[in-house]
Amino acid sequence: MFDELDLRPGDIAGIEDLRRLPLMDKAVYQGLTIQERGADDVPTGLCRTFQTSGTTGHPIRFLMTQRDFTFRNMNSARAYLASGYKPWQRMAVLAGDRMVNEKRSWNERLGLWRRREISSWKSPGQWLDDLTAWKPHFLIGRVTTLVLLAEAARASGHPLRGLRSVFASAEVLDDASRSLLKSEFGCPVLDFYLSFEGGCLAWECPACSGYHISADMVIMEVLRGDGTPAAAGEEGEVVITNLHSTAMPLIRYRQGDTVVLSTKQPRCGRRLPLLDRIYGRKEDMLTLPSGRRIAPQAVPHVFIPVPGIKRWQVVQTALDRLEISIEPREGFDDSARRLLREEMMKLLREDVRIDIIEVPEISRDPSAKSRPIISLVR
Ligand SMILES: [Zn+2]
Repeated sequence: MFDELDLRPGDIAGIEDLRRLPLMDKAVYQGLTIQERGADDVPTGLCRTFQTSGTTGHPIRFLMTQRDFTFRNMNSARAYLASGYKPWQRMAVLAGDRMVNEKRSWNERLGLWRRREISSWKSPGQWLDDLTAWKPHFLIGRVTTLVLLAEAARASGHPLRGLRSVFASAEVLDDASRSLLKSEFGCPVLDFYLSFEGGCLAWECPACSGYHISADMVIMEVLRGDGTPAAAGEEGEVVITNLHSTAMPLIRYRQGDTVVLSTKQPRCGRRLPLLDRIYGRKEDMLTLPSGRRIAPQAVPHVFIPVPGIKRWQVVQTALDRLEISIEPREGFDDSARRLLREEMMKLLREDVRIDIIEVPEISRDPSAKSRPIISLVR
């Protein structure tokens, strides 16, 4: 891309010059091999590998140096600390994986940064039991998962008490969900704007009305449809340049969300600029014949062990019927299809008909992020 524009790295001296570079689309980025995405001067053998859970329907593998990874963690830690978390408190995470990480690190054995993952493959009643037993001070989860938990707590008459704060992430925190979570958990609810590519991009400040952008970690551009910068108070598309992704550089990467920059100045003493609003998607839950509902964040994990999948989409057409569309790549054969069916049944555990359909391309809604999970069941 630099060559096409006759640019050299030395021509980029400031943020203004960054605008001379083209935008990087997710689809283009995903089409590159891991070698093409990696920096030439960082030995891949020394990197840590991560895979996105592919909540947008297409998992991406990432490399990070230990230093990139540490910066990313420290940035999240800063957001937690700013939100009232103390390192000796317990934090529970509602994770999408079936098997959660149960390894305890040295700091946890010393009683610091204690963290328990709870699999969203279990039922909301089991989440409630696990959380009641462990008594976390803080709870992190996706909005829909937290709403399922709040509803389970309300239905069972066993409210979850003792939480200092609930951190919501990954989906739009609408007013109705926020007030349900607040009243059910009896504590403040703070919204985090996270992305796999950029880590913690922004977090809601309890003192300022808005979200602080992690502007020392990532250059966040908010652009109009014509590519010019949006003014404060105006909606625009998020484009990020990650300052700490040296193993796999992300330059002007289209994150795919719409946000509004705040017209206000921070009041809390932090000089990180503020976002006023984040618009994103709200995911659909699957509802099964028994009435059981599946947290949407568990669904992408079904696809991780299955080879040969470029993108996927799950459409629930009836209570007992799922249509899984697959945009295949090499390796999506009969055994992959069988594995996909088995993995999906492990999650559903009910009599549901599953149709797997191969399509040349999964249709994408150009105005928004693609919706990987759609439920037509009312
Ligand atoms: Zn603030």
